[in-house]
Amino acid sequence: MITTATPESKSPTQELIELSERHGAHNYHPLPICISEGKGVWVKDPEGCKYLDMLSSYSALNHGHRHPAVMQALLAQAKKVTLTSRAFHNDQLGPFLKELADLTGFAMALPMNSGAEAVETAVKTARKWGCLKKGVAQDQAEIIVAANNFHGRTVTIVGFSTEEQYRRDFGPFTPGFKVVPFGDAAALRAAITPQTVAFLVEPIQAEAGILLPPPDYFQAVREICTQSNVLLVLDEIQTGMGRTGRMFAFEHEGIRPDVLVLGKALGGGVLPISVVCAQPEVMDVYKPGDHGSTFGGNPLACAVARAAMRALKDEGLVERSARMGEYLMGKLRALKSGYVKEVRGRGLLVGIELHASAGGARRFCESLMHRGMLCKETHEHVIRLAPPLVISEKEIDWAMARLKKVLAG
Ligand SMILES: *Cc1c(COP(=O)(O)O)cnc(C)c1O
Repeated sequence: MITTATPESKSPTQELIELSERHGAHNYHPLPICISEGKGVWVKDPEGCKYLDMLSSYSALNHGHRHPAVMQALLAQAKKVTLTSRAFHNDQLGPFLKELADLTGFAMALPMNSGAEAVETAVKTARKWGCLKKGVAQDQAEIIVAANNFHGRTVTIVGFSTEEQYRRDFGPFTPGFKVVPFGDAAALRAAITPQTVAFLVEPIQAEAGILLPPPDYFQAVREICTQSNVLLVLDEIQTGMGRTGRMFAFEHEGIRPDVLVLGKALGGGVLPISVVCAQPEVMDVYKPGDHGSTFGGNPLACAVARAAMRALKDEGLVERSARMGEYLMGKLRALKSGYVKEVRGRGLLVGIELHASAGGARRFCESLMHRGMLCKETHEHVIRLAPPLVISEKEIDWAMARLKKVLAG
């Protein structure tokens, strides 16, 4: 009997992954799942398999996929005007900035697109403030950052990263940055010189493995910055917009920064939009031509961000994040597993740190994927759970059933 070999047929997912691998730079190591649809906390692949999204695009999807009010704003604005550049005014930027000021308590903001651009803008703002207001000489400004920081991927930003891989082969780097340990207020105090213009820091180091600050650290940081006339610049790109159970993570610390950087979920999970927020005494260092962005402040992104801010308030998503975060962490802490070293987090920004003997978090994320739950390892031994804030108790229970199976042992 003669049998003819049929060509092995590939699934749509396999074909799509091969295309991106063949034609895209390999600067990511994604889980082998291809998302073709999303609604709320759920996504689907081309084969129609459903998955619970417990990563939310690194907290850019606080509203969940295709939030109805955000989508409505997107579609309505798309029918009117999408891009004007800042050569002209548009009818969305002013209202957006006003509503942002009401939300943050900072009267002014400078809009950009990506998070890294906003961090770059914060760096430029602090340096310019240092020269114009603090009297630091040209090219002498110093900015202090924390070890294990994550602020994005531009040359300047990776230049002050302590992550070897982020820096290797990308130099030479921008000078003027100093690194101190996160959580060590005395080290910050010791590092400050008359040329120091800012301390740039995340309120919770998310990419570093959901590292919470020691109690009272930010109180001390606030005092030190005020005493030394140094701007406290908080990068809340990941922790802001309700992620930690408060609108901004600095509210947990009982302090306010001088400069606040937002991005990710500000765009409602739909469009990139980022901002640097500050009071006029800082933001008024800019005059026309000093800085800019073609797409920064575009009416489409502004309309979407307005709807995104409104939805967080109208739907009580910040309180929900606090409540669901408690619920999730309670369940995780009750879970008996020989692999789990610690569960930590705030609101719905949760890290499960595994013992080194567990062999890394990646394999757990892979087996969770096969059971219909999407999450990602951060820093080798930590599983990050950061679902959309619209997640329900029932959906958390669904996730817990999978986590229990995978982490048993
Ligand atoms: C994601 C992130 C950034 C960079 O944002 P991009 O939009 O990816 O450039 C900066 N800081 C923090 C804390 C982030 O989580």
